[in-house]
Parts: sequence; C-alpha cells; structure tokens
Amino acid sequence: MLVADIVETISGEPGCIIPQGAWITLVRFQGCNLNCAWCDAKETQSFDGGIEYIPEEIVKRCKSQNVLITGGEPLLQDSNEFEELITTLCGMGKIVQVETNGTYELPFGNSNLGWEVDIKCPSSGMIEAMPAPNEYDLYNLLVKDNDSLTDVKFVISDKNDLDFAMEYVTVLMESNLFTGNFVFSPVNSDPSIFNMIFDCLPNNVLNRSVLCMQLHKMVGLP
Ligand code: SF4
Repeated sequence: MLVADIVETISGEPGCIIPQGAWITLVRFQGCNLNCAWCDAKETQSFDGGIEYIPEEIVKRCKSQNVLITGGEPLLQDSNEFEELITTLCGMGKIVQVETNGTYELPFGNSNLGWEVDIKCPSSGMIEAMPAPNEYDLYNLLVKDNDSLTDVKFVISDKNDLDFAMEYVTVLMESNLFTGNFVFSPVNSDPSIFNMIFDCLPNNVLNRSVLCMQLHKMVGLP
C-alpha cells in the first residue's frame, strides 16, 4: 500500500464516528484520481511519491484508539489489502474513519467503521467526475451491505456550490435510506460563507447538518 504519512495528531473535522478534536493516528495514503482546485494535500495526488507498506506494518504504527484514514484517495489502494487493514484495525477494537472523495462505492461496512464521503462541488473543478444526483445509485453508493455510519460532506465556496450540494441533499433526504449527517465545510474562514450556508439551508436540512471548521489547521497540526 502506498502511504504518504502516518502521524499522531487530532481529528480536525467533525466525523461520523470520530469526533472533532479526538486524538488519532492519521494514515494518509498516496495517490488520487482527482485534482481539486483547493486541495490542501496536493503532495499526495501523485502515485510517484509515498512509501510501500504492507497492512501489518501500518497496523503496528497505529498507536491511537482512533484511526483516521485519508489521502489522496484511500479506495485506490489494493482492495484486498485495504479491506485487510480496516478489518484488522476494527477487529482490534479500534474506531476507524475513512475519508473518500465520492467517486467510488463504499466497498464494505463494519460497526467500528465510519465513512466520510466528500462530494465535490463546482468550485473544486471536479464535478465531471461526480455522478449527477439523479444518476446516483444511492443504495449502492452509501447503504448497500453497509452497517457503518456514513456522513456526506461538501466543501462550499459560494452559493453555486451550495445549490449544487442541495441537489444531492434533496435526493438523499427523499430516499429515506441515508441516515447520516450532512457536513458543510466552508473553503476558508471567510464568515460570509458561514452566514450564507446558515441563511440558505432549510430547517429540515439544518437539523441534520454539521458546520465544519478545520481545527487541526488552527493549532498548526497535520
Ligand atoms: S479528492 Fe482530496 S486528495 Fe484528491 S485532489 Fe481532491 S482534495 Fe485533494
């Protein structure tokens, strides 16, 4: 498996199974299929960097009870090794959360596992890679054989992004299959983005929404 970094830090964002601010081992995989305009992990996009590990070596380096797995795009790693890694960690009683970019179906579930699915909005420049909301097989993407908790996240830069996100939110709310939260993450700390999100979201969506500020960046952690 191609690993960019394994560090002890805090969870910078609210998660479906690991709360914001919790101590974590962060496993960052190398390689991504996207190139988001505001990507803050550009060094992990290429498949040329990183270090090869077998799952057992990664497990040994996961010192914290909470393990946050991100990238790059974690689901681009070898699928058998990826499942071995996650099931081993969960089998040890660890709480595992995987951040994925919404272009791949969630492959499996586990009661100790949470998925954060980051659906890309127009300001990312990557919406052509995302299935349109009405083409989404929501059951397969998020729910099928999945006994994990799942949240759907949107990075929001402007009203156009929020309108785009709401197309997915509407489909997910109407499906009654998706039981997680919607995480809205302003692309920067400009208060006008927070205010716009708060003003525009209807109450029934606000009741299932979490506003995300990136805590790890405020305190200078990876
Ligand atoms: S999916 Fe994530 S790692 Fe990949 S380019 Fe976008 S923000 Fe960067």
